[in-house]
Amino acid sequence: MADFETPALGEYPVIPLLREGVMAHSKPFVAKPDHQKSIGFPGELVPDWEKVAVAKLGELVSGSRALQVFLDACVKCGACTDKCHYYLGTSDPKNMPVARQDLLRSVYRRYYTFAGKHFPKLVGARDMTKAVLDDWYSYFHQCSQCRRCSVFCPYGIDTAEVSMAARDIMDSVGLGQKYSNEIIGKVHKIGNNLGLPEPALRDTLDGLEEDVKDETGVDVKFPLDEKGAEVLLITPSADFFAEPHIDGLIGYAKVFHAAGISWTLSSHASEAANFSLFIGNHDNLQKVAERIRDAAIDLGVKRIVVGECGHAWRVAYSFWNTLIGPFDFLDSRYPVPQHICELTYDLIQRGVLNLDKSANDDKVVTFHDSCNVARASRMGDFEGGQFVIPRAVIQASCNHFYDMPAEATTCPHCGISRHQERPTAATPAEDPKMRSGCMGSAVAIFVIALLILVLT
Ligand code: SF4
Ligand code: SF4
Repeated sequence: MADFETPALGEYPVIPLLREGVMAHSKPFVAKPDHQKSIGFPGELVPDWEKVAVAKLGELVSGSRALQVFLDACVKCGACTDKCHYYLGTSDPKNMPVARQDLLRSVYRRYYTFAGKHFPKLVGARDMTKAVLDDWYSYFHQCSQCRRCSVFCPYGIDTAEVSMAARDIMDSVGLGQKYSNEIIGKVHKIGNNLGLPEPALRDTLDGLEEDVKDETGVDVKFPLDEKGAEVLLITPSADFFAEPHIDGLIGYAKVFHAAGISWTLSSHASEAANFSLFIGNHDNLQKVAERIRDAAIDLGVKRIVVGECGHAWRVAYSFWNTLIGPFDFLDSRYPVPQHICELTYDLIQRGVLNLDKSANDDKVVTFHDSCNVARASRMGDFEGGQFVIPRAVIQASCNHFYDMPAEATTCPHCGISRHQERPTAATPAEDPKMRSGCMGSAVAIFVIALLILVLT
């Protein structure tokens, strides 16, 4: 366990007293040379890495107007300082969003601004050194890229984008993190984060068909590589075996069955997650996404539906179009991509799914917005659809749904309430049985709920 005290988080956030360097020791495992090389990065720190890092920074800034604005526009107003859960939870000033940005901004200023080149001390410009690189590796990996700070910045500066750029630079000089890079390598090689080959995937899906048949008496299919199906379902590979994710996949299959929609999974693109977003690398982001386009064309589907996964939906909704578009080979009557919640919501609205809410009267349900869905994407064809649609689906499935008061919605991953930023009013619930969790568990709950009903 990390050696630091966690400040108490009260009703109103209080900026904690600074404890400099208390989180400097916290960093992820470094990727091994094989993990690095398998996704196109140097295996270890390259000679002259300082120059390579500065050159990569210049390349990223010249290729992204947004990144340049983020690095140039900060006025140090401080509005973001107490908006990051990593700072509130650790008191380390380098976990303030503005200070996290400054780790990169100081190097940018040194090499790419007039003042930084000639008067570095006056403008907080720093040389690229090993000490700076160590700080980057530690503190840019203490950002979950939740984008909460950007909501409060008057200039809309997105620290998540700055963190992604820093990680991309580190990978380019041979210093990557093991977790993401090893996983991305598995997707390139096998097709999913878990490294689950096609025979194992098929066996798992066969087992699910048997389980559902035993439980319900209904022949719900879990098709794999079925050419000519209408829908290609892309879902995180965790859905193939982990709890409660697998309940989500079972639910999706039951929705398709009940609605009479032919669908298939793909062994070539058996992964919705795209961890390349976390390392901020465009080439890997595109390469992982490309598998999905290839699978859709090869299988001849009419639409692509994405299962529940916050960052996967962000990549699909916000980036697929430029990464792997155009999608002129799909049926233009449907949105591209389409979220499983959108599809289910539409079926409910049109009366295709008839649900008996009372079957879930033993459950008290709430919903926690996912940061990537809530702040980095949308659902449906109306503003705020990403807040409305998942709740509408849950409410159609049970009688005891309660939205949490904003101060109660502390996310286990992102640490801080997100729906306090959305405009709709909530009904507070004080029932101790109320469930809390990120969107994944909430969706699993609703899908279980839905399908108990659809099939009975
Ligand atoms: S809120 Fe924006 S402008 Fe203000 S210090 Fe933070 S990043 Fe800079
Ligand atoms: S994106 Fe989230 S984790 Fe990163 S600095 Fe901002 S609030 Fe903190």
